[in-house]
Amino acid sequence: MSFNEIVRSGLSDWGLPAPEDALSRLEAFCGLVLETNKVMNLTAVTDPDAFAVRHVLDSLSILTCADLRGKKIIDIGTGPGFPGMPLKLYDPSIDVAFVDSTQKRIDFIIKSAETLGVDAATYAARAEELIAKPGMRAGFDVVLSRAVAPLNILSELCLPFLRTGGQFLPLKSDNESFAAELAQARRAIDVLGGTVRGTHPYALPGVEGKKCVVIVQKTRETPAKYPRRYAKISQNPL
Ligand code: SAH
Repeated sequence: MSFNEIVRSGLSDWGLPAPEDALSRLEAFCGLVLETNKVMNLTAVTDPDAFAVRHVLDSLSILTCADLRGKKIIDIGTGPGFPGMPLKLYDPSIDVAFVDSTQKRIDFIIKSAETLGVDAATYAARAEELIAKPGMRAGFDVVLSRAVAPLNILSELCLPFLRTGGQFLPLKSDNESFAAELAQARRAIDVLGGTVRGTHPYALPGVEGKKCVVIVQKTRETPAKYPRRYAKISQNPL
């Protein structure tokens, strides 16, 4: 199957439409990532078919459990743009802010957004420092993040950005250690003003092992002392 067929078929399995203009933006983004990956380390994925599954469908899986239309979203530790960029290219009306501590990855996102004709608010900053900027604390409806840190640490980086009532939707592999990771993060999430509503399992075509979107709702304000400095967060996680 071609890149477009893989994405179309995956979306159709999830009951989601696959507009042609979205598919061509996603394919163009795949080209940009794989081309740039030859000179800058962006991903371990090197062929378009694997990209379609592991980056595009994996990012879009969030749409199987959340309606992001009209929402203000922030993607923490986005790297070259996952999951935020496939979501933005799928539906350019979604407002996505991209955050990564590495300037060169953010430069890549700025260039990709320009080339593909979508707007992207970008921040080359550490999440725990960016939070001090006006409009950041409690400034978003949805926080997304994939492959950045264990859930207890990730929750301290992400939950402060959410308004009360908003959702934190990290993507996780539902492997042997996931149940323990989630159990351990429950206390952290509670301290930070969140409530775990559940996990939404999904599978990727041809990929063994389950994945899931963790569904955390912000039910109270995060106490002002969080997030702490990164050394504290990692040495003494909640
Ligand atoms: N989300 C992407 C990239 C994962 S790699 C994907 O799923 O492919 C983890 C990324 O998080 C790296 O690009 C790293 O620079 C970034 N990162 C790690 N800690 C961070 C922090 N505290 N604030 C912002 N970005 C962070």
